[in-house]
Amino acid sequence: MLKIKQQHGLDQISPYVPGKPIEEVKRELGIEDVIKLASNENPLGASPMAQKAVENMLQETYLYPDGESYSLRKALAEKYNLAIEQVVTGNGADGVIMSLCMAYLDEKDEVIVSQSSFPVYDIFTNVMRGKLIKTPLLDFGLNLHAMLDAITEKTKIIFVCNPNNPTSTIVKADEVERFVKKVPDKVIVVFDEAYFEFVDDPDFPDTLPYVRNHVDNVMVMRTFSKVNGLAGLRIGYAFGTPELLAPMNVVKGPFSVNLLAQVAGVAALKDEDFIKQTVYENRQNREWLYQAYEHLGLFFVKSQTNFIMVKFGPKADVVNQELLKAGIIIRPCKAYGLPEYLRITIGSKEQNQRLIETLENIRSRTSAF
Ligand SMILES: *Cc1c(COP(=O)(O)O)cnc(C)c1O
Repeated sequence: MLKIKQQHGLDQISPYVPGKPIEEVKRELGIEDVIKLASNENPLGASPMAQKAVENMLQETYLYPDGESYSLRKALAEKYNLAIEQVVTGNGADGVIMSLCMAYLDEKDEVIVSQSSFPVYDIFTNVMRGKLIKTPLLDFGLNLHAMLDAITEKTKIIFVCNPNNPTSTIVKADEVERFVKKVPDKVIVVFDEAYFEFVDDPDFPDTLPYVRNHVDNVMVMRTFSKVNGLAGLRIGYAFGTPELLAPMNVVKGPFSVNLLAQVAGVAALKDEDFIKQTVYENRQNREWLYQAYEHLGLFFVKSQTNFIMVKFGPKADVVNQELLKAGIIIRPCKAYGLPEYLRITIGSKEQNQRLIETLENIRSRTSAF
């Protein structure tokens, strides 16, 4: 029995449950040929230019990284026409969420998130003993009206996941504009745009002008994990006014973005062919999957990302188990409060074909859906 008391309330928080790693499924089920469509990783792999940069840097890994990620922040600032002081980096966007919560949340501060949204907001809010206020979804999307209505004297942060994970929907430019105008300026609005590169809806908001125009309470958060294919290196970043970002630099720890990640990030930004190819193939494969799901008579939410949320009904969990047995890892949405849905990453053409064939097979053998 451990005699040491942990942080008050920590035993009430469940740790983040990531998509099962491929190796774990191989081990547990004794199968060799396993694919992962669970964590919205890039089916094309890692940005080739980033890979080269990492290879060239391997010999330098005896050195500590630049604690300020100067070159990476400068490259981001140049790409998005911002000042370097308006850029913060982190150990993944998750790391940025953590520093934001550490820097701003006091006990009992309120944080507004949507139901069925990204769970990392909940975790760090809870760790800081903030109070989570959850607003209901509207048509599988975030309900900004409900989020506004939920604001109180104690509200500190509102997380707007746009596009939303796991529903893959967006909130639109006009809604966002009205929303930001109404949020009190002592409340931070975080636009988590982890998937913005994949969006093709012309009504998606451009949030960077808030930062350029020195709106102090808006933060725009992004990542190298998805379109750049660098999930394993852990690099996220956010834009905000220097005043907003300053406290985060205090808490983020001295070397939160490692040496290889920093050079990979700089190179990945220049790898425009890879980004274009990723987005292009994602769209082709998304259309193919839409048709395949329709053909199977399955309801799905139209996607603005590299994943699709599909409704399998009351036995969605059986479908998940059957897919696993067939070597396909996907993400059940039970933990997101949508137990009848599975979130499935848009994979390569071959992966998607295997997925659909396996689903057809499951359907013919079982009554799971
Ligand atoms: C994947 C994801 C992130 C986290 O990205 P990392 O940089 O890998 O930590 C953040 N927000 C959303 C909505 C995501 O889906």
